Amino acid sequence: MPLRIGIVGAGIIGLAVARRMTELHPDGVVTVLEKEDRPAFHQTGRNSGVVHAGIYYAPGSLKAKLCRRGVELLEAYCAEHEIALRRCGKLVVALDETELDRLRELERRGRENGVPGLRWLAGDELREIEPHAAGIAGLHSPTTGITDYRAVARQLANDVQTAGGALHFDAEVTAIEVAGPEARVAAGGETHAFDRLILCAGLQSDRVARLARDQTEPRIVPFRGEYYTLRPGAEHLVNGLLYPVPDPAYPFLGVHFTTRIRGGVDVGPNAVLAFAREGYRRRDLRVRDLAETLRSRGFRALARKHWRMGAKELRGSLFKTAYAAEARRYVPEVSAADLIPAPAGIRAQALDPDGSLVDDFRIHELGPVVAVRNAPSPGATSSLAIAEHICDVVR
Ligand SMILES: Cc1cc2nc3c(=O)[nH]c(=O)nc-3n(C[C@H](O)[C@H](O)[C@H](O)COP(=O)(O)OP(=O)(O)OC[C@H]3O[C@@H](n4cnc5c(N)ncnc54)[C@H](O)[C@@H]3O)c2cc1C
Repeated sequence: MPLRIGIVGAGIIGLAVARRMTELHPDGVVTVLEKEDRPAFHQTGRNSGVVHAGIYYAPGSLKAKLCRRGVELLEAYCAEHEIALRRCGKLVVALDETELDRLRELERRGRENGVPGLRWLAGDELREIEPHAAGIAGLHSPTTGITDYRAVARQLANDVQTAGGALHFDAEVTAIEVAGPEARVAAGGETHAFDRLILCAGLQSDRVARLARDQTEPRIVPFRGEYYTLRPGAEHLVNGLLYPVPDPAYPFLGVHFTTRIRGGVDVGPNAVLAFAREGYRRRDLRVRDLAETLRSRGFRALARKHWRMGAKELRGSLFKTAYAAEARRYVPEVSAADLIPAPAGIRAQALDPDGSLVDDFRIHELGPVVAVRNAPSPGATSSLAIAEHICDVVR
């Protein structure tokens, strides 16, 4: 009997896994189950579009390894399918002396991770790259790029179908029963039986894993990332990607400037607690989602540890002038009038019960099931490498 392979989720990771499976098992039957009516509806279609080079991640971590391999695979894939990808370069700037040690540490990590072309820029050298940026030193990564992850996901979906795989949309997985070597899955009114089942459910990854009797922790905490776009006329203020030195205690990168592959420059995203996992407007609230977050031990520990940062992010979310003030620290000529609100994204961030945000990708196996439990940024950059990694595990 041909190998029956099921994948939950048609985001970039689920689709990359499905495509890799069609390559590895040409005689197998590959089926993707997606609850929305199209691919890339959640994180994959609502992110910053950055092809990260691998500067930030702890050397030896899955993120470090899969990001570097992911860039290599993604660049080749985009070239093969004529999907726009541009190495526009990224500049991380230290605003003052207190940030220099952390910037040096980033440089060390980047070099250890094998990021090509990294350059330390002292004083005004950084303004040769970004003439309107503030700062006393910079770390430049010329190979960091931008792309359109929605287009990548669409192409992956095409590849799966061309290879004979099936994509089922409007097929929400509501039950999973593992019976010996087989996983039975209820989705969209049908039941499917699989020899291998890979769960790539993004913002719902903890809930879908629990359906398969995986452990409850880590839970997903949804963080909204709100963006503004620089108004036409202010776009010249940024050439490529301009980032602050990240706070090592915190997994998000801080408000930054991102040139988009289709033109324009975005400012953001920030990171504020979302009251609904899949509600993209600030007023969206889903009682189940919020209650689960507030009840979780991990979230309460996180709130105690990071309430100051949380309050600062919330201020920026509620008051455009506060957001603009944060942006102005990096590009002093930006004013609140230059910022036009843009659609938000929501990050699926796994949280351990002690309140620590899971930093690395977390992927594990339970019998015939593989669960992706944490795949935040650089998850899109790394998607083709995550697929390789998973397919090696479940071969
Ligand atoms: C604001 C923001 C900015 C980011 N910026 C970057 C960046 O610049 N570069 C980068 O590399 N990464 C970035 N990321 C991270 C990146 O977007 C994610 O790592 C990546 O998209 C994860 O892909 P995924 O397939 O796991 O998740 P998703 O794209 O969220 O897909 C999961 C899919 O599972 C489906 N699903 C869920 N539950 C069920 C169910 N029960 N039944 C059926 N289907 C289900 C969902 O509908 C969804 O389509 C960013 C993320 C955000 C939110």
